[in-house]
Amino acid sequence: MPYRPMWLPAQTVRSIFNAPASAELRRSQYEAFSRQIPLLYALLIVNTAAVVFTHFRVAPHWLAIYLPCALCAACIGRVALWLRARNVDLPDAVIARRLQSTLRLSAMFGVAFTAWGLLLYPYGDAYARCHVAFYMSITVIGCIFCLMHMRAAALLMTCIVVAPFALFFLMSRNVVLVAIAINMVFVAVVMTVILLTYYRDFANLVESQRKLLTKQAETERLSAENFRLANLDSLTQLPNRRRFFSDLDGLLLTTGAPKPGLAVGVLDLDGFKPINDLYGHHFGDLLLEEVGRRLASLPLPGMTAARVGGDEFGVLFSGDVSQARLLHLGAAICAALQRPYELADVTARLSASLGVAVFPDAGKTAVELSERADYALSFAKNHRRGGTAIFSSEHETQIRRSNEIEQGLKLADFEREISVFFQPIFDVSSKGIVAFEALARWTSPTLGTISPADFLAVAERTDLILSLTQVLLRKALEAATTWPPQMRIAFNLSARDVGSPEAIDGVIRTVLASGVAPHRINFEVTETALIQNVSSARETLNALKNLGAEVSLDDFGTGYSSLSYVHRLPIDKLKVDRSFIADIVDDPAARAVVKSIIDLCKNLGLTCVVEGVETASQVNALLGLGCSVMQGYFFGRPIAGTDVLEAFVMNGFLNETFLADESQTDSDPRRKRSRTP
Ligand code: C2E
Ligand code: CA
Ligand code: CA
Repeated sequence: MPYRPMWLPAQTVRSIFNAPASAELRRSQYEAFSRQIPLLYALLIVNTAAVVFTHFRVAPHWLAIYLPCALCAACIGRVALWLRARNVDLPDAVIARRLQSTLRLSAMFGVAFTAWGLLLYPYGDAYARCHVAFYMSITVIGCIFCLMHMRAAALLMTCIVVAPFALFFLMSRNVVLVAIAINMVFVAVVMTVILLTYYRDFANLVESQRKLLTKQAETERLSAENFRLANLDSLTQLPNRRRFFSDLDGLLLTTGAPKPGLAVGVLDLDGFKPINDLYGHHFGDLLLEEVGRRLASLPLPGMTAARVGGDEFGVLFSGDVSQARLLHLGAAICAALQRPYELADVTARLSASLGVAVFPDAGKTAVELSERADYALSFAKNHRRGGTAIFSSEHETQIRRSNEIEQGLKLADFEREISVFFQPIFDVSSKGIVAFEALARWTSPTLGTISPADFLAVAERTDLILSLTQVLLRKALEAATTWPPQMRIAFNLSARDVGSPEAIDGVIRTVLASGVAPHRINFEVTETALIQNVSSARETLNALKNLGAEVSLDDFGTGYSSLSYVHRLPIDKLKVDRSFIADIVDDPAARAVVKSIIDLCKNLGLTCVVEGVETASQVNALLGLGCSVMQGYFFGRPIAGTDVLEAFVMNGFLNETFLADESQTDSDPRRKRSRTP
């Protein structure tokens, strides 16, 4: 409420004498007045003592000594009380009460001292009387100054002291005294004006200070809220990436071995993407919210989770970061996220993999630790989905090896060092090789022979895969031009190839330039490659189909195994991963899985190819399940391009004998090898 000056006609006397409505103003008044209290009473006591000194011989003792002493004692008592309460933080109500009692006391002291002065006035000579007049006027001016912040008390004091004294002098008919009275009234009026102006400014100042403080508090609240929002993931309500890394930096500044332990985890949801694609982004959001809730409510002390990316979460572990405890916490987190998600009438299931890097063994900086945790995560994803991997010296060696491979690959002469081997794909029902799968081989002059799984992963990480694919495809098709025209060739495309329209243009150009009829070519793509970017994957597959080539879904069962992809994408064949075949003879569950995939292929009109067939028992088991197209060491290991034609010649031998003699097959790879073309 704006402050209105007190001399406006609308202002009532009552409002002047009431305590101010604003608690801040009352508190400021109280604090300012507290500082003046000793001065006020010191002034009263000293001036009174001076009057006692000039009158104790001329006036009766009760009036000249006892009464002023009693008044001064009361003053000292008041000062003592104020001094005692000086540094106490009082509630608003107590302050209001004290201000009111100060007003009453000012009136009482004013009346008492004025009465004393008037009673004393008749005693003594003209000098003594002048002293009393001087005492009254000068003391009241001093008191009013001290009461500057207490407008009501100051005005009351002015009225109580000045009015009777001026009246007393005016009625004396003594010209000097009348002049003094007029002077006194005039000074009192001037002082009142000054007092009111000062008080108004004081009140305004307090009010603007209050507004400033309110604004400041609001600004602080807003900036705290902004800070909170800037550090919060709006979907999951977990801390966000920025907060995660600033917390990590903070912990790294304070954490030093062997002080409280610290480990950084990266958690990734397995199978989130296909769920998101299948049920829509709204469902994906609900699912992420639920993941956030589950992570936040895990009763695991020393663990905080943040959302650092789409379906990626960062976890900070503190305290005991022993391997055993981290594995225990990791298992608890993964188990919590593996529980079914029943949201919006849909029940979805997914697992989570966690990679952990422990400070300081795995790294000393936030970047090192999160990179190592990422590495451990990819290890967890590849080796134990839905589980936890802790970055170890083994991973360190792998990283070093991968860096060596990267360097070697960057310097490699692909034409000379990279070659293509071919592994037969056999149709047991027609008893013949129907295709050869082209498999990359690299022999580095410095590093020796490197497994394709290793160097292709490195090539995928870098841009090298795109040019590598072109060289491999050209070499593979060159070999295929020498084969009988009915023999097909299977060629693996990497995820990067599938996701890059330029790469696919290059593939198509190479096919057209090779002279091999496109319908003889079967491009193998993995589910992981398709899922990374479904729309560009669909374009790629369509482009390959338009060319006349076939497309196979490779390594089926190891990725998301989302049948919706098989259904929605233009795929001709499905290759069942060899991990399902290893136990097919002894494990009914493995057999059931393969059977369901074979049945799925039949229903969708797809050819089913089973990989990794190593024994005749496996061949027979697969035949029993209704699958006849197979690939594996049992039929032939990958061979150099120059040996392929010879393999055709041997094919007849293989056809007739492979089913007859199971005893030769199971354990000895050299014997198996001797059976291959
Ligand atoms: P893949 O496409 O699943 O190829 C089959 C892999 O299984 C080959 O490994 C092959 O040697 C192996 N294999 C075949 N039969 C058996 C068997 O009976 N038992 C066992 N234990 N293994 C068998 P390889 O040649 O080491 O290739 C590994 C992976 O590297 C391939 O898996 C493929 O994903 C990738 N790859 C190979 N060549 C290329 C290529 O030219 N381009 C791309 N993008 N990837 C390639
Ligand atoms: Ca393949
Ligand atoms: Ca495969």
